[in-house]
Amino acid sequence: MNLASIQAAESKLLLNTYERNPHLFVSGKGVFLEDENGDRFLDLLSGIGVSALGYGHPAIEKAIAEQSALLLHTSNLFFHRGTADLALRLTEISGMDRVFFCNSGTEAWEAALKLARAHATAVRESGKKIGTKFLALEHSFHGRTMGSVATTHKEKYRLPFAPVMSDVEFVRFNDVADLRARFSDEVCGICIEPIQGEGGIHPVSQEFFASARELCDSTGALLLADEIQSGLGRTGKWFAYQHYGIQPDVTTLAKPIAGGIPMGAMLCVERVASAFTPGMHGTTFGGGPLACAVAIAVIDTIQDENILAHIQEVGGFFKAQLNALKQQHDCVTDVRGLGLMLGIELNSAELAKRVAAQMMERRIIINRTSETVLRFLPPYILEKKHVETTIDALNEILKANTELAGAMPAGEKIHG
Ligand code: PLP
Repeated sequence: MNLASIQAAESKLLLNTYERNPHLFVSGKGVFLEDENGDRFLDLLSGIGVSALGYGHPAIEKAIAEQSALLLHTSNLFFHRGTADLALRLTEISGMDRVFFCNSGTEAWEAALKLARAHATAVRESGKKIGTKFLALEHSFHGRTMGSVATTHKEKYRLPFAPVMSDVEFVRFNDVADLRARFSDEVCGICIEPIQGEGGIHPVSQEFFASARELCDSTGALLLADEIQSGLGRTGKWFAYQHYGIQPDVTTLAKPIAGGIPMGAMLCVERVASAFTPGMHGTTFGGGPLACAVAIAVIDTIQDENILAHIQEVGGFFKAQLNALKQQHDCVTDVRGLGLMLGIELNSAELAKRVAAQMMERRIIINRTSETVLRFLPPYILEKKHVETTIDALNEILKANTELAGAMPAGEKIHG
């Protein structure tokens, strides 16, 4: 089937949940995707932060070939060789003690929310006062299942499904006074993306993150760090919270962990792990042999090839180039992010839409999020020469759109 016939078939057969770009990709190599016509696209999105080692990486191909020849699935009623091996690696790089494996980001976040509620129940049973409320942040995104949407700020994702999980309050982003005012012993957990992704690449401030840690410590509430987009090396450290020197009680991973094979994980410290006992939580597929084997290959490759240092170097170069672009173009109002989780804010949503579309015409895949932000989540193996190609294209497109850029009203500043 070609693109047109697939589009026609999908429009009749699939639920109408995605606005797809009209491109049909058939293969990939390194940082490039190839479409049905054999055209190559430089991919600075990596399937929304998933294909961390790019496409066709030999370590991933080998892990899939070897493991699929041995065993794909056992269920969690039995042992297999991958789970403990992977959990050991994850606990070593995270400062966490225990892992629960699942299949996606939202499922990892659900596990985190359930653990926080179960922990609060156990604390109450021991005679100490703690409530059931979650504090989440404005502009947060935690996924699409009922608990995840309840802690996700954008009303579009939440309100059509009301009533979602109750007892959630939203705190103004990076507003320490608002956080302190809303915190009490009614709170069982504070939910933070150390760098908000869908919200437009916004890092939480050191003061805000530290205040959340301090408040949780004062009552025994849990600090939950959602690292589904920022974790596993994306920012140049294994976890974005490591840039802050703050250890959360719980963290979540998904997107890049198994290099494109679906997998999620919720990690926590020993103190809270006992809140889950056998039968309280589970999943049929989570932590299966194939996903574990591939995730081990991904982590070992990142370690063996010193890829965190590479992310820091190329990400630093990329950010500097974006800042140079900002100097040249008034329509670029901000440059944000760490490592290879970067974004630039433009002064109008219409301009951002145009730039993303014109980059695609030049066969460079970027993404627009939060209306006015161009987001870059490339594979970790991106090189400086790819950054240069991207910056040249952005520069030319912004120049060509200067008239429009000047004429556009300032974009709505959602983060105040
Ligand atoms: N949390 C964060 C921070 C995310 O960026 C995402 C996805 O974009 C999710 C949760 C949900 O992950 P998934 O789409 O795998 O359910």
